[in-house]
Amino acid sequence: MRLIASAAEMRAIPRSKEFRNGAVSFWYRELGLPKRRAALPGDADYDVCIVGAGYTGLWTAYYLKKEQPDLRIAILEREFAGFGASGRNGGWLSAEFAGSRERYAKEHGKGAVIALQRAMMATVDEVITVAKDEGIDADIVKGGMRIVATNHAQKARLLQEIAYLQEWGYWPEDYYLLEPDYEPMLRVDGAVAEAFSPHAARIHPAKLVRGLAAVVENLGVDIFEGTAVTELRPRKDAQRPAAVAEQGTVRADYVIRATEGFTAEIAGYRRQWLPMNSSMIVTEPLSPEVWKRIGWEGHEVLGDAAHAYIYAQRTADGRIAIGGRGVPYRFGSGHDTNGATQPQAIAELWRALARLFPAASEAPVVHAWSGVLGVPRDWCPSVYLDRTSGLGWAGGYVGSGVATSNLAGRTLRDLVLERNTDLTRLPWVGHRARDWEPEPLRWIGTHLVYGLYRGADRREASRTLETSTLAELATKLAGR
Ligand SMILES: Cc1cc2nc3c(=O)[nH]c(=O)nc-3n(C[C@H](O)[C@H](O)[C@H](O)COP(=O)(O)OP(=O)(O)OC[C@H]3O[C@@H](n4cnc5c(N)ncnc54)[C@H](O)[C@@H]3O)c2cc1C
Repeated sequence: MRLIASAAEMRAIPRSKEFRNGAVSFWYRELGLPKRRAALPGDADYDVCIVGAGYTGLWTAYYLKKEQPDLRIAILEREFAGFGASGRNGGWLSAEFAGSRERYAKEHGKGAVIALQRAMMATVDEVITVAKDEGIDADIVKGGMRIVATNHAQKARLLQEIAYLQEWGYWPEDYYLLEPDYEPMLRVDGAVAEAFSPHAARIHPAKLVRGLAAVVENLGVDIFEGTAVTELRPRKDAQRPAAVAEQGTVRADYVIRATEGFTAEIAGYRRQWLPMNSSMIVTEPLSPEVWKRIGWEGHEVLGDAAHAYIYAQRTADGRIAIGGRGVPYRFGSGHDTNGATQPQAIAELWRALARLFPAASEAPVVHAWSGVLGVPRDWCPSVYLDRTSGLGWAGGYVGSGVATSNLAGRTLRDLVLERNTDLTRLPWVGHRARDWEPEPLRWIGTHLVYGLYRGADRREASRTLETSTLAELATKLAGR
């Protein structure tokens, strides 16, 4: 991505008169920002205290309460339930799992990694089933996932990836190359190959998180909003572990951190997970004529095989929502600014939209936003519960947390209830990564890595048949 979008480029982007940047996300603009729940009234005592009311915190509370209805559970949320990535994402409920399979296999064996991948596939259906059973309407359509290659290097990589994943838990019917005349049709300009997996669904992220919060509350979980936790205290002698907020201290048998991309703001966790940005834009609804040209009747979630990849969905009301990395990282693990995204990220995403769907390039962009996701130093997600300190966490999902957070919630349930199950034996349980480097190395490293990935994409678009060596260098530097 060029760091500065020219004024002419910005003018070329058709914008709706209603265009907005930030305001958490377009998904919340559709629903309206929620009325806040009450803050923590003072010191309190619970069995389990969860910090963060995104998918991770809410799924954990959901499964604990379902299993043991008399458990007293509090969730402390700094803003409102779904304020973070859970209310802003691209709506891919997919079986994709971030993290190096080899790294997990080194500790737990290949079979355990394959079990994790199969659990992720089952998780897509688990979320769909619970949403249905609990009456959460989140515009869910299980149309699968399509990944397009728009040059020959990308195609070669797609083929390699299919072969690789078949070594790690995907059977041939789980991810495969599509025939050119595959139906339902989805016409992506310049596509030279497409791969498909049935293990994905399109969702409306904010409807899912809002619905889940209401369900959890109805089960008897106390959700306190406007309550920022500043410190997590481990168990010490007779003192139970605690979450400390300005309004009071909550003591519990277990305190679970579910703060993902915001983790760096809690004392003592500054370098644990890097807050990586992801940005999105969404168009006005496209006309029936434009949809006829594009197709996309299967509502598959769509991605490309670029290094700085995009992800997209056709929304329930006929828009295209498309996202990508944008400006990857703010210096010093900087703060989220209510979802506002930089002009260059908007320009980059619009260029991708116009390139992949020329028929949609006249459609005005109505909203742009961004969010943060958590990236561990080795890019491997984890679930962790330390019985001695009473502290636990789940996250570091990199860009794939919609389904993974549900698997994390069920796993944390079993860990808190001290059960030894198939879930607690999965290889991401107990995994730990070293801390990120101090600044300015974090900033320089992240921008260098994404600069190299973008350079590799440019090279691959113009001349190479194979993955550019720039990308190989970036992956090495990133420590993935
Ligand atoms: C733009 C974007 C697009 C994405 N697209 C996809 C996608 O299509 N598919 C996919 O699988 N994944 C996607 N992801 C990632 C996915 O959304 C996340 O992995 C997932 O939502 C993480 O859920 P979470 O509950 O762990 O974190 P979050 O949803 O970020 O929730 C953390 C919560 O903790 C609260 N909090 C933070 N600090 C404190 C504190 N100190 N005290 C109290 N509360 C606190 C926050 O306010 C927030 O509500 C995307 C992410 C982004 C940003």
